[in-house]
Amino acid sequence: MLYAITLRAMRILGMAIKGLLLDMDGVLYVGSKKIDGASETLELLRENKLPFRFITNTTTRTPESLIAKLESLGLTASADEVFTAVSATIRFLKSKGRPRCYLLLRDEVKVLFDEFEEDSERPDYVIIGDIGAAWSYDTLNNVFNMLMRGSELICMHRNKYWQDEEGLRMDIGAFVAALEYVSGKKALVVGKPSPTFFQQAIDSLGVSRGEAAIVGDDIDSDVGGGQACGLKGVLVRTGKYRNAYADRSNVEPEAVIDSIKQLPKLLGM
Ligand SMILES: [Mg+2]
Repeated sequence: MLYAITLRAMRILGMAIKGLLLDMDGVLYVGSKKIDGASETLELLRENKLPFRFITNTTTRTPESLIAKLESLGLTASADEVFTAVSATIRFLKSKGRPRCYLLLRDEVKVLFDEFEEDSERPDYVIIGDIGAAWSYDTLNNVFNMLMRGSELICMHRNKYWQDEEGLRMDIGAFVAALEYVSGKKALVVGKPSPTFFQQAIDSLGVSRGEAAIVGDDIDSDVGGGQACGLKGVLVRTGKYRNAYADRSNVEPEAVIDSIKQLPKLLGM
């Protein structure tokens, strides 16, 4: 790349953006390491009174634990600024009354779903989150049989992979795809790129979709998903970003920047 910032629409980004959705993992940090410039960028956004929300598909932590993680990295966030796939899933289930659920979630996240009755035979919904290395043939086969008995499949997201300190790690999307393949059912996605998820975050900013941009390291779920909802898409070359994958994608971001550090410049700050 000759230029650090690739711009297709400086005018759009420089003049009309009134709110931002910031993906967290891969944009603000990778594993326990903060990305250079993240603190300074957030401070500048606050100084310039450009409102933003943190949005994440992370399902291994509670929203409170995510805020604590941001704080441990020196990034301030309040509860009303953070939108997670976990809290969106709880909102979705509440909107369905009191459904019986089978939860594939880590124990520390599962406790947030205490109000919903667990059913491991014939639940209304099977909820798929990140269970890390606990995936097995038995786990998949068990869920497959629930789906064949009539349960519906809900996935918190269907991301392909993410980046941690050691490298790329396979995410839950492939397991969701496998379950769809064998059951013939289509999973409902609750986190990114669900339009409902984006809309809830946008509504809380008080701006319209066309006045907002999403900043993410996932060209499909962040940039493509955001664009499908009418947002501008800014891709960062950190986290899971890989040149070859982005080049193959049909998604064309409005802007591509090396990292969050360049966001203020992109916005004309
Ligand atoms: Mg990310």
